[in-house]
Amino acid sequence: MRILLVEDHPTLREVIRDHLTGRGFVVDAFAGGQDALAAVEVVGYDALILDLGLPDMDGLDLLVRIRTLAGSALPALIVTARDAVPERVRGLDAGADDYLVKPFDLMELEARLRAVLRRPGDRRMELLSLGRLRLDRARREASVDDVPLALQRRELALLDQLLRADGRVVVRDLLEERLYGLEEAVTPNALEALVSRLRRKLEAAQCGVRIETRRGIGYRLTADEGT
Ligand code: CA
Repeated sequence: MRILLVEDHPTLREVIRDHLTGRGFVVDAFAGGQDALAAVEVVGYDALILDLGLPDMDGLDLLVRIRTLAGSALPALIVTARDAVPERVRGLDAGADDYLVKPFDLMELEARLRAVLRRPGDRRMELLSLGRLRLDRARREASVDDVPLALQRRELALLDQLLRADGRVVVRDLLEERLYGLEEAVTPNALEALVSRLRRKLEAAQCGVRIETRRGIGYRLTADEGT
């Protein structure tokens, strides 16, 4: 899951980013609205965490502009010091899914984020499966015949992307974009190495699911007949 975080307070921005990164999210964090808009133009995000008081534009205006670019279904969680009722109403009217007033606990932020990601009405499936392989997206657990598969967070994120493609090829650029944050230096063979690791684990689990390479294009998941 790739999250767009817009928060101008440097410490809070880092703390939120570090917490969510540690919990398996890919987080692109920006201090201002212009940078966030530029990112939305090129990256597909799964959710937005937005501070309303920003130096370069009004947070609610930004929310409307991001939704225009990214689609109105993009889950949005507002974090702000403004706890007045009219502000909340404006935020929810502008399309926010939830509202968190500062100061807040990071565990609560994470719980609210997961909740907006799970909102009924969006088509994010909680459980994905292929053959005997199953991925519980809410619990971030992969398993084969109910036996947990020990995957690291980025291996899980890769599996998630491949399962969501439902047998279609996922192009490399898209995977790199979804799996690595903008601020991370991605070495040219990082994705190959990640694919190799996941491939070995799937083989070791003998689940009948394989990662097929389409050279120069990307990857897709296939399941052996009868699995
Ligand atoms: Ca602020």
